[in-house]
Amino acid sequence: MTKHIFITGGVVSSLGKGITAASIALLLKSRGYRIRMQKLDPYLNVDPGTMSPYQHGEVYVTDDGAETDLDLGHYERFSDIACERTSNFTTGSIYSTVIQREREGGYLGKTVQVIPHITDEIKRCISLLDSPDVDIAITEIGGTVGDIESLPYLEAIRQFRQAIGRDNGLFIHLTLVPYIKAAGEMKTKPSQQSVGILREIGIIPDILVCRCERDLSMEHREKLALFCNVNRELVIEEQDVKNSIYEVPVELAKQDLDKYVLELLHLHVKDLSIEKWKEMLRRTVEPVNGELEIAVVGKYITLRDAYKSIYEALSHGGSANDVRVKVRMIESQDIEKSSVEKLLEGVDGVLVPGGFGDRGIYGKIESVKYARTGKIPFLGICLGMQCAVIEFARNVCGFSDANSTEFNQDSSAPVIDLMDAQKKIVAKGGTMRLGAYDCVLSPGTKSRSAYGTDKISERHRHRYEFNGEYEKTLSGKGLVIAGRSPATGLVELVELEDHPWFVACQFHPEFKSRPMKAHPLFREFIKAALKKKKSDNPSK
Ligand code: GLN
Repeated sequence: MTKHIFITGGVVSSLGKGITAASIALLLKSRGYRIRMQKLDPYLNVDPGTMSPYQHGEVYVTDDGAETDLDLGHYERFSDIACERTSNFTTGSIYSTVIQREREGGYLGKTVQVIPHITDEIKRCISLLDSPDVDIAITEIGGTVGDIESLPYLEAIRQFRQAIGRDNGLFIHLTLVPYIKAAGEMKTKPSQQSVGILREIGIIPDILVCRCERDLSMEHREKLALFCNVNRELVIEEQDVKNSIYEVPVELAKQDLDKYVLELLHLHVKDLSIEKWKEMLRRTVEPVNGELEIAVVGKYITLRDAYKSIYEALSHGGSANDVRVKVRMIESQDIEKSSVEKLLEGVDGVLVPGGFGDRGIYGKIESVKYARTGKIPFLGICLGMQCAVIEFARNVCGFSDANSTEFNQDSSAPVIDLMDAQKKIVAKGGTMRLGAYDCVLSPGTKSRSAYGTDKISERHRHRYEFNGEYEKTLSGKGLVIAGRSPATGLVELVELEDHPWFVACQFHPEFKSRPMKAHPLFREFIKAALKKKKSDNPSK
């Protein structure tokens, strides 16, 4: 039987529930348990795919093509367990199912209500994780306890635990214990109140994880234990980590959080092995090769979360090369007001990530040119690859009007064009080319040598593609087609021959990078950047 852990958050948002949930998953997996994870989000969008990156941050894409919350990226990175469509539901998706069922006559004769119909549907979504090959399912409830939107979820998990029994399900509440500077004290009251709200709903947390800036004293632990009805040793401290989010599981393990979880679930406490994780952390925090700098030229730079997986994958690439990657975040529109030479000066590598719409395209194309002509290692991703192709067509092949039809429908050289399959699609939600597709790599390319294999599978999220009509001309001038979809012939990867490391892909490699298994393209990109840095500064 699959056991269940429910994680809720209190006091404020942005406490890092996703990272805490992912850390618990990593620890339990490291103790030999088979884990699955899920997030339930209380907003009305059916999925985050239609939201602006400024609203929601990155949209994380799974192999099976679901557009999901960025916390699933943490889940996959920490635990290296694949998420799928059933790993993320929203109030929008839950209501859609219920309303569709009502239209089909599924509730004939009944009044359809939040309780029991919506809560039943939430419970059905949770039980989708039940399986003979899953020992423990972890469900994170998005939002903050006390929000109106969260109520049906809290009621559903209360009922769910009631049905499976205390030995088979537990509640972990993540809360904030703020330090009040003027009083020189840490305060437990917000946590008490948040647990109070949960209690009114009928949930008493089994474990309290306290986010704090400073040490939680014994006195605070005792107070929280007393007022929140938890055992003192089950008041766990989660202090802000100094260097890397990958320190969180190690800190939680020091307090035996995972051991208590297993005891509460009446599961055998097997040995914990996280030595490799700690070695990865050493390379991340104290790398022997010092630091290098990569420019990320994006459109949504002001919101760090918008490129979450990119920044993480860069750090994995750094760790694999025992070097710290400092990111110079550049808003591509700023290049219009300043100059690319000024903004990119001195960087060891340039990464142009994905995006939508024509704002900031000029700056991205200028950045590609700067990396191409300056022989600076370059990685282009999705829109970044499309910009690389446009730049090459314009500046190497002489198509001065080359463009993507996303930005100029009347371009006389539409080197990037809407995919055929996309031409008839009107609806916006979930209609891009999404999820994992195979790609065959060309022999002798940098990509082929990075991956060490001919056939790969990578995740996609796009509508436009490399226009095959221009392939001959562009490759005649030196653009290497390094990877192609075996099913459709679609160009998936391009490279430059006469360049130390210039690779651009239509897919999103960042989603598959893991802290202990850096993605091959990120690993080789950073390796090339390190080589450049060493040859630029031979003394260092
Ligand atoms: N806007 C481009 C497309 O739809 C690129 C998408 C992306 O970068 N994810 O093809």
